[in-house]
Parts: sequence; C-alpha cells; structure tokens
Amino acid sequence: MHRAAHLPFFSPLRIGDTIGMHLPDGGLTASSISMNRRGFLRSSFGMLSAASVRGALASFAPDALRPAQKTVIVTFGGGARDEETFAEEGQQNIPHLLQELLPQGTFFTQVVNAGILGHYVATASIVTGAYERFNNFIAQPPPNPTLFEYYRKALRRPATDTWVIAPSNGFQRIGGSSDSAFGPAFEAGVILPKRLLSAALKQGSGADTDRLSHLLQDNYEMPLYQSAAAAHDDELHLDRLDSTLRLSVADFLARARASDSADELSIFIARQLMRQQSPSLLLLTLHDMDIAHSGAYSLYVDAIQRADRLCAELWQMIQSDPEYKDRTTLYIMPDFGRDADDDPAGNGFQHHRTGGALARTTWLLALGPHIRQNVTVDRPIASIDLVPTVGCHMGFPTPLAQGRCIQELL
Ligand SMILES: [Zn+2]
Repeated sequence: MHRAAHLPFFSPLRIGDTIGMHLPDGGLTASSISMNRRGFLRSSFGMLSAASVRGALASFAPDALRPAQKTVIVTFGGGARDEETFAEEGQQNIPHLLQELLPQGTFFTQVVNAGILGHYVATASIVTGAYERFNNFIAQPPPNPTLFEYYRKALRRPATDTWVIAPSNGFQRIGGSSDSAFGPAFEAGVILPKRLLSAALKQGSGADTDRLSHLLQDNYEMPLYQSAAAAHDDELHLDRLDSTLRLSVADFLARARASDSADELSIFIARQLMRQQSPSLLLLTLHDMDIAHSGAYSLYVDAIQRADRLCAELWQMIQSDPEYKDRTTLYIMPDFGRDADDDPAGNGFQHHRTGGALARTTWLLALGPHIRQNVTVDRPIASIDLVPTVGCHMGFPTPLAQGRCIQELL
C-alpha cells in the first residue's frame, strides 16, 4: 500500500529544496538526477549541447499563436525510472521519445513532485496545479478547481471541448472540483476505457470476458480496490460510446480484442474523440507501466516501450489531423517516479513508497508550434506548474493554482 495511504497529511516539500540530501536514495538529489538525465542525453545523441534557456526566453512571443490553440496532456501513471528510460541501459526502451520527439521539443530534466505519491491524488494535483492531500484511494472531486473548469468558465467553452481519458481507479471524479464557484457546470467529461469495456461486455454476449480480462485490471497496487459499477454508470458509459465516440458496442469490442493493453485502448479512444469532438483540451493517462507493482520487471519494461510508441503515435495523430495540426501543444509528463534500487525503504522499481528523490523527480517534454525545438532546461520546475502554463498559453486565469507559468514554454 502507498505511503500516502498512511500519511494523508504528508507535508509537501518546497520546490527548490535540495530534496534527497537526507533521503536514502544513494545520495541522489533532484538536481543530480536532472544533471544525470542531461548527461545521458548528451553522451548518446549530442543533440542538446547548443541549447540554452536564455535563447528560449529571447524569442518569447506570447501572443503569436494565441487564438484557437489546442492542448493535449499525457501523463504516465506510475512513472518510469531513468534506468529503464533515459540512462544508457534504458535508452533502447524509448527510441521514439529520444529520436523523434525530444528533438522537436523542449525537455525539462528536473520536474519535482512534492506532493503525495499516489496516482489519483497526484494526477488531481497536476490538473488543479495545487498539491491535493485527500485520500488517494477514495474517488472524490478535488477541492481546488481543475484546469478544465478554469478553461471552460473563462472561455465559455462547451462540455464537448474538454475530456479526460483515464484508468478507472478513482479517476471518475477528476473532471471537476468541489469548489462552489466551478463544479459540474464546467467540468470535463471523463472516459474510463476499462469501465467502458466492462459495460460493453455486459451488453455483448459475454463470450469475450475471459479473453479481455487483461484489459480490465483496475488497479495494480490494490487489486481489491474494485468499486462495483452502478447500473446507471454502465448506462452513462454506453451512452458515451454511442453519442460521443460514435461507436457501436460490437465495433468497440472488436477494437478491444485487437488491443494488447489498456493503454492502446486509451489511445484508440483519444483518436475517436479527436475525430468526433475535436476537443481543445484533452488529458490522457497511460497507466500500463504501473504493473511494476506486481513485481514483473519484463511487463513493466514492455509497458514503457508501449508508452514510448503510443506517445509518438499520438503526436502523429495530432500532426495528421487538420483540426490539430500546427495548433496543438503536447505535454508529456510522468505523475512521479519510482523507488531507487539501493533505497532500503523500498523494493526498487516495484513501488513508489519511499518518497525519495528518484520517486519525486521526473521530467516534462513539450512539443508544439510555439515551443522551441531541441532545447533542454535543467532549472527545477514543479508538476503543479503545468496548469498555470496551459492557462498562460491558452489565455485564461488559474487563480487558485499554486504553481507558476513555465516561461520557457510561453
Ligand atoms: Zn503505482
């Protein structure tokens, strides 16, 4: 079980603190992880040495592409460590990120998550721009307004313009907050592919249930955390399948049969949403890699390789769709990392329990028409900076977010 489950009021660290100095991560600090990450990239590809943050700021032109911008955010739920990604021994697992996407974007080597390291509460913190402290294992709306509510309220956008595609464990409430000035009138629609599949299977013949069970596993940390879907929840999902995604149950089940994993199904749903609704603000969480909790290293690595491929596929989808091409910013960021091998408080790649620097220090890659290419930035930023940054770029205020606009991305 998560440390967060025991410590719901875990005190966040301030960004800029040299986190890790006092933690048993083999001497790792957020900044040493960041410099290692930069070093790995330089030594293998030599592609980032000329980049400079000063150069990025010099060409800062905030209004140039302001109208009609779209934003797609991908989080990795569970995160992956540098050993399996950016380090020399891990680079074979992320060829698309390294060779296709990084050269087209700005890469931040040091993104600190100073909040609770549980997936739902951490993702909720990313979408509110504030460190939320509620119990990770209870589905509930975040107390602070979400990015989606800020966006819809300020720009008077319809419900069809913003969507979340997420794993099922508690994420059904992530679209809107309990803040009385926002809430349901401004929330994002949430599509849970596993719930959708389970509802579709009940409609179908049932013959597929065993065959598709690998796509239905809800939570890799607490297999017993299975909230039974209410009948009206099934109805809601089936209605979305028909009215929003324009898919029949039979077509959707056929697609599920052809999918290796839940993340593939999520990307398929993203594609369908983009075609049918062209949302301007879309959040997608890839969660396969959290199978690491089961202890199966090879499955964890497979999931990283898949996420790498799916990110490139998503960028290609964006670039080949006239509604999205040349007007979309894609942000890719793990929600947090995983524990270090030599941390006696953890069990290596398997979990994210120790709160050590490796589990807290992740990265961000941004791509888009206004984003400088082939730039790497080492200064520390925070996972809660994403919401203000999207607000600054798309032109709406995010007053209760605690993070700051990332100037290099404006
Ligand atoms: Zn996890």
